[in-house]
Order: sequence, then C-alpha cells, then structure tokens
Amino acid sequence: MKLLNLKLHWQILIALALAIVAGLVVGQDGLLLGVNVVAVFDFVGQLFLNALKMLIVPLIVSSIIVGVAGIGGSDALGRLGGKTLGYYALTSTFAIVVGLLVVNLVQPGVVDGSPEQVFGLSEDTEELKESLSDKGADDIVAIFLRMIPTNVVAAASAGQMLGLIFFSLLYGFFLTRVANQYAEVQYNFWQGMFEIMMRMTDLVMRFAPLGVFALVAETVANTGLAAFAPLAKFFFTVVAALAIHFFVTLPLLLRFLGRVHPARHYRAVSPALLTAFSTASSSATLPVTMDCVEKNAGVSNKTTSFVLPLGATVNMDGTALYECVAVMFIAQAYGIELSLATQFTVVLLALLTSIGVAGIPAASLVAISIILAAVGLPLEGIGLILAVDRVLDMMRTAVNVTSDSCGAVIIAKSEGEQGILEQEGKRSAEAAPAN
Ligand code: ASP
Repeated sequence: MKLLNLKLHWQILIALALAIVAGLVVGQDGLLLGVNVVAVFDFVGQLFLNALKMLIVPLIVSSIIVGVAGIGGSDALGRLGGKTLGYYALTSTFAIVVGLLVVNLVQPGVVDGSPEQVFGLSEDTEELKESLSDKGADDIVAIFLRMIPTNVVAAASAGQMLGLIFFSLLYGFFLTRVANQYAEVQYNFWQGMFEIMMRMTDLVMRFAPLGVFALVAETVANTGLAAFAPLAKFFFTVVAALAIHFFVTLPLLLRFLGRVHPARHYRAVSPALLTAFSTASSSATLPVTMDCVEKNAGVSNKTTSFVLPLGATVNMDGTALYECVAVMFIAQAYGIELSLATQFTVVLLALLTSIGVAGIPAASLVAISIILAAVGLPLEGIGLILAVDRVLDMMRTAVNVTSDSCGAVIIAKSEGEQGILEQEGKRSAEAAPAN
C-alpha cells in the first residue's frame, strides 16, 4: 500500500472520505453497473477485520505476561494497577456525567406521539427482543463471573478477553517467582512472541487504507442517509457528548495530568483512532493502538503492554456515555420520567457494564438491554436506536481507544518515563525493549 509517500493516517483519512462517497453512490441496493459491489466491500473488509482479530489473542497474552513480568515486584505492580484502574474509573465517570448532562439538556426523546411512529422502530426489533428478553441483573454478575475462566483455552477461542487478561496477569506475576532457569526461558519466549506479533501488526496495517475503505463504504451503503432523519436529535446529542469528552475532557487530562501536548498525542495515535472508527471494535484495534502508543508516542513497552490490553476491554468511556444517553433517550421517548435515584442506577450500571462488555461491534446493545431491564423500561426501546447504532458505534469506539491511549501516556509520565511525545511523530527504528 505504499502507493503514495503519504503518512498512514493521511492514507486512511483519504480512504475514509472516498468510502463515504462510494457508499453513497452505491446506495442500499448495493449495485454499481449491475455488479454487487457491497459484496466486494464486505469481502475485503472482512479480510482486514479477520487479520486484525487473528492477532488479538497471542498479542494480549504475550504483552500482558511480558508487561507484568517486566514490572517486577508486587509493589510496583500494585502501584501501576492502582493508577490504571483509577484512571479508567475517573475518565468513564467523567464521560457518563457529560452524557447525562447533555441528554437532560437537549432531551432528544421528548416528542409528541408514540415513539414507534415518531422514531420508526427498526424491523429487526422482534428478533432482537427475543434474544435480549432474558437479560437482567444476573447478566451483570455473569459478565464478571467470566473474569475467572474455567478453561483458558475455551475463553481464548470464545474471545472472552476478561478471562484471558486475568489468566495472563497471574501468569506474568508468577513467572518472576520461579527458579531463574525457567523464568528466563519463559520470559524470552513470550517476549519473542510479542515482538513477532508487533511485526505482524505492521504488516496488517499496511492494508489499513484498503480495509477501512471497504468497511466504511459498506456501512454507508447499508445505512444510507434516510435512517438518520427521525433520529437526528438523538444522533447529534450522542455526537456532542462524545465530542466534549474527546475534545475537552481528554485533552485537559493529557495537559494537566500527563503534561504533554494533546494535539501531538492525537496525531501520534491517529491511525489507531481511524482504525477504531472503521472497525467499531476496540479489541480488533488493540494491535494498532499498541503500535502507535509505543512507537509514535514513545511510551515504554512495559507500560503499553500492561495498560492497553486491559484498557481495550475494561476502559470504555464512549460506550459508558452512549449507554447512559441511549437509556435516557428511550425513557424520554416513552414519556417515562426517571427519578434521580433511577438516573443514579443508570449511571452506575453504565459504568459497570462498560467494564464488562467486550470490545466488539454493537456490544453496547447488550449492555443497554441489561440497564433497561434493571430500571424497568421497555426492552423494545432498543429498536428505536438501531438505525443509527452502527455509525455511533464507530464514534464511541474511537473515543474508547483514545481514552486508552491517553491513559497509557498519563500513567507512563506519572511513572517518570522520559521522551514521551517529545518529538513530532517519534518512531523508533527497533521495537522498544521490554524494560
Ligand atoms: N464497539 C465498542 C468497542 O469495541 C463497544 C460498544 O460500545 O459497542 O469499543
């Protein structure tokens, strides 16, 4: 893909713009001059997504093991873990509060008439309702039960990242506690796997412009513009709240907690943001996020390999914000006034479920259904937002990934790391060493 000597993020941006045009030209019937081009977009997009997903399991396992083993003693691990979780909780809470304020201010769901007629319930609602109807408080418990997998291989093959992360954290911790002769072999093995995965990521990323083009063109062709009209107010409420988090909250944190230049950081991680936007999956984007934060922003391997895999699953600011706005919107649409106590429950559940849900497309819908059931709102309310969910998914995933990357920089700075975001587009020739 070295067609032009343009930087990767420019190539991806151009691909994105072209994809929007192509998607609109092709339209919902998917045909161009009698050829089903949407099927071609789908094929190419899936190839790119598959290639990214292929990297995730070995990357998460090797990076966390190497990361935790590299941190050393339990004191250092406890400190880094504490900072990481503290950052995640802080930013997710900020995001939810912004969402709650904006949705209460704009009130996108307050209209005259039945919600089904005004917003147009999506056709797949019945099916969705069936698949979601048994959601409830037990599901929140189930999400966290999976944190300790009964079978780590099954967890890996089912993409249960929380379980995999938990196992890898323990493995890395005890790696440093076995006899030297074993520890050394183990460390080198996992370090080697990690280096190989990063190089494979570089290869996959060369195809990012093509993959992004295909994924976005397909989404635009399938969604069309008509779906947005009745939901424009909801759509822009979410976009505004996400924008406040993206353009105000996170840059302020970077500036005052991290003491780095926010614009420089955003430039460094732009390929990851664009990949997140195109794939709508934090997990699939993880290899790219790690690559950008380590090589472009200059954060040590030790910090990235601990903070980012954890963040891709646990830290989802955009998702938490979206869940909150969506539930409030559905309540408004049905004319149900939520008491302050219920709104507090929504906030708490949005925080909890955003930690537990997987970093895959449309994961929020499951979480929203859990919250709806918990606060006694009609489940079919989800049907109201389906038409615009995909595009909002792309945006919230970009925010999720941005927050993870900001966390890595802020935590690295607090650990006294030097040389972060000091030069524009810093890119070390070699992959950074473990310590
Ligand atoms: N797609 C989001 C992510 O991967 C999760 C969601 O909000 O649906 O981060």
